[in-house]
Amino acid sequence: MHKGSCLCGAVEYEITGPLGPIFYCHCSRCRKANGSAFNAATPIAAADFRVVKGELRDYRNAAGVSRLFCGNCGSPIAGRRESAPETVRVRIGTLDTPVEGKVSAHIFVGSKAEWHEICDDAPQYEERP
Ligand SMILES: [Zn+2]
Ligand SMILES: [Zn+2]
Repeated sequence: MHKGSCLCGAVEYEITGPLGPIFYCHCSRCRKANGSAFNAATPIAAADFRVVKGELRDYRNAAGVSRLFCGNCGSPIAGRRESAPETVRVRIGTLDTPVEGKVSAHIFVGSKAEWHEICDDAPQYEERP
């Protein structure tokens, strides 16, 4: 069981199943949404994801991609895709429980920030694997 929360504590969530592989997405949309070099996330089964305190707000773009965040402090918590509702991609920086494992892949490296240097040996993909 994993637990996570937003910066202000208004939102808390639980993950009752295993975490998937950790990936860093370097695409420009993830950089905007996270204000950082990349989005560190892991796919989990949507059925294993439960908000136990507060509620998430949903920013959904025209392509049917939702970014779920705390409406009070703005912490990005998770993402999901209309075309794959069975999966939720949790922003692992919001987890409060320890995460076993390291980054398994870098995706959308073709559009990564020019000021960011990738310094590990995980495989890199131009877009998706
Ligand atoms: Zn918050
Ligand atoms: Zn991305």
